[in-house]
Amino acid sequence: MKKRISVAAPCLRENEKRYVQQCLDTNWISSAGEFIPRFEKAFAALTRTRFAISCSSGTSALHLALLGLGIGPGDEVIVPTFTFIATANAVTYCGAKPVFVDSEPETGNLDPALLESLITPRTRAIVAVHLFGHPVDMDPVLSIAKKHGLKVIEDAAEAHGATYKNRPAGSLGDISTFSFYGSKMITTGEGGMICLNDPEIAARIDLLKNHGMQPDRRYWFPVVGYNYRMTNLQAAIGLAQAEEFDWHLKRRQEVARTYNQALQGLRNWIDLPQVREWASHSYCMYSVVLRPELKLSRDEFMDRLAAAGIETRPFFYPMHTLPPYLEQKKYPVAEALAPRGVSLPTHALLSEEEILAVAQEVRKLCPSS
Ligand SMILES: *Cc1c(COP(=O)(O)O)cnc(C)c1O
Repeated sequence: MKKRISVAAPCLRENEKRYVQQCLDTNWISSAGEFIPRFEKAFAALTRTRFAISCSSGTSALHLALLGLGIGPGDEVIVPTFTFIATANAVTYCGAKPVFVDSEPETGNLDPALLESLITPRTRAIVAVHLFGHPVDMDPVLSIAKKHGLKVIEDAAEAHGATYKNRPAGSLGDISTFSFYGSKMITTGEGGMICLNDPEIAARIDLLKNHGMQPDRRYWFPVVGYNYRMTNLQAAIGLAQAEEFDWHLKRRQEVARTYNQALQGLRNWIDLPQVREWASHSYCMYSVVLRPELKLSRDEFMDRLAAAGIETRPFFYPMHTLPPYLEQKKYPVAEALAPRGVSLPTHALLSEEEILAVAQEVRKLCPSS
């Protein structure tokens, strides 16, 4: 049987093994140990923020970021309807209400032009999700936030290495969050990071992620906290990945370039990922949208590729169509994109041969040009 091509895969190299072995050899496998501060320091350098705080997942990073900003019951937080559910859930965990915003058609990211109409006296923050690795148009988001006194959280779970006007995603708002799940640009298996510049909020997040224990007073808990810590084992893998970050980013961008060239001729049937003039795309996922001219449903398209040994991934369902967040209100752009979107295999281990094989199978599903 032909080798299956998976949609995502971690890419572990030499130092991951070496550093993990060091944890095992020294007995430091829990949430203390040298790799945690080393990974945090390396990651802060990548995002050009003063603080990077490790935690257990991208979801706990979002929860801690919102708590750090003081989001709580009765508050409203604007989040895109077109995102992974963790973005909305983290708002719900705080007792706050996610208020959804529709996408702009080019990138699927939140449409800044729609934000102001959603702001009420209860609105406290906006979560900008840099979907698939393409940054949100942040300047209008930041100026609207400033005008209305709102905080801006960047959900950069998919955007390690992306830039907006030459500044790293994750350095643009009040606070940002990253995920190191297995499919992301770099991984720790499960894990997350919160990046920010404000020392007071950083201290509050440190407290909350460690059961709420006062750092200078053992077993004294001034607040109800969480155990959202990362382990030294995870940080060992993360440090090795962060040290070779440029390589990981370059590989994904090469994968995208090869897809772009190979799929160029199919633009009558498939919309390829767009890159705005002020952005660099990190290609966490190379995602395409099937045009209505392609008389094939997205699920059929995925099934046909699966039959050829190629794993793909459908776009997220918009949040307002899911049981916990169901709304009658229409979000036309997200509703049009979601059922026609599919992510092609995107990871650092893909060979040029494999990418061309994917493109070849995609070509077979398009009418001959
Ligand atoms: C992956 C992801 C998350 C959640 O990260 P986990 O580490 O899986 O908890 C949150 N938001 C977005 C946009 C993601 O892609």
